[in-house]
Amino acid sequence: MGRSTRITMVKKRLSSGEPCAKCLDVQRFLEDRGLWSQIDEVVWADESDPDSAGWKLAQAHGVELAPFFVVADDAGTHVHTSALQLARALTAAASTTAASTPDAPSHDDPASIVRWALERWGADCTIAFSGAEDVVLIDLAAKTGLPFSVFSLDTGRLFPETLAFLDTVRERYGISIDIVFPSAPAVEALVRAKGTMSFRIDGHHECCAIRKVEPLTRALASKRAWMTGLRPDQSPATRGDLPLVETDPKHKTPDGVPLVKVNPLARWTSADVWRYLREHDVATNPLHLHGYRSIGCAPCTRPVDPGQHEREGRWWWEEATHRECGLHST
Ligand code: SF4
Repeated sequence: MGRSTRITMVKKRLSSGEPCAKCLDVQRFLEDRGLWSQIDEVVWADESDPDSAGWKLAQAHGVELAPFFVVADDAGTHVHTSALQLARALTAAASTTAASTPDAPSHDDPASIVRWALERWGADCTIAFSGAEDVVLIDLAAKTGLPFSVFSLDTGRLFPETLAFLDTVRERYGISIDIVFPSAPAVEALVRAKGTMSFRIDGHHECCAIRKVEPLTRALASKRAWMTGLRPDQSPATRGDLPLVETDPKHKTPDGVPLVKVNPLARWTSADVWRYLREHDVATNPLHLHGYRSIGCAPCTRPVDPGQHEREGRWWWEEATHRECGLHST
């Protein structure tokens, strides 16, 4: 699959208006493997409408049953009728891309990877800073002496301590942090329609899409690469096979080239991060002292007990496999 790959999933909608159960299972299967973000479009085959877009696609490709996938890439258009088939194709494509990443870093320690990325892209590689222990990336970047840029998403629901910590970091390193806000009309429309806590009722994805995912797209619009503090141990179910360097098909340069996503902490654990922060006397978000391990928006984050996984402190009212905000979908 080439860079211009576009994947359409055709789902079946029952005459009751509900999606078919198999379609939901298939979506969950892809989400569990971190592949759902690669689906560009969902089209419905409406049981009560033989002219619906999904049935037309089925007809065009000689497929009798939804769900199925139409993949258009440099090699043409082809169809996968099983999610497993699609997952295998996507995984094979990802390995090919990773293997062919030019000049990949020769060491997997975070300092070498941060240097590798900044030597290639400088400030065109922006560091995603959440205001938590991912400050380690800023410390590593500052130590290279190379130019770099940093952004943070202010969702409007962050803890005051996190906002204050952004200023601490800004001052300590003498850097500017590009703060990106959600679209005010989109937030207003959501709050008008559903109130301020709709995520507790129908899940966090809608709110996260408005307050995080869309602003991320703007934050990356003029960049060529970005750097994250993702680690496999943050969520073994969704980040277990996290690569150090990957292409990010969801974010592209203005001329259509997918950004490179660099995950320097992909071989580190939480313990490694905290060892580094202590040994290098790096300032940290004061919430960490109060039992908060993974820190996000205030209404969706709580402290965890010793021994509890850090993800238990995020969106705890939802199933464990759904606790991703959509920024990474891994
Ligand atoms: S973490 Fe919670 S408040 Fe923040 S954007 Fe997601 S759902 Fe909304």
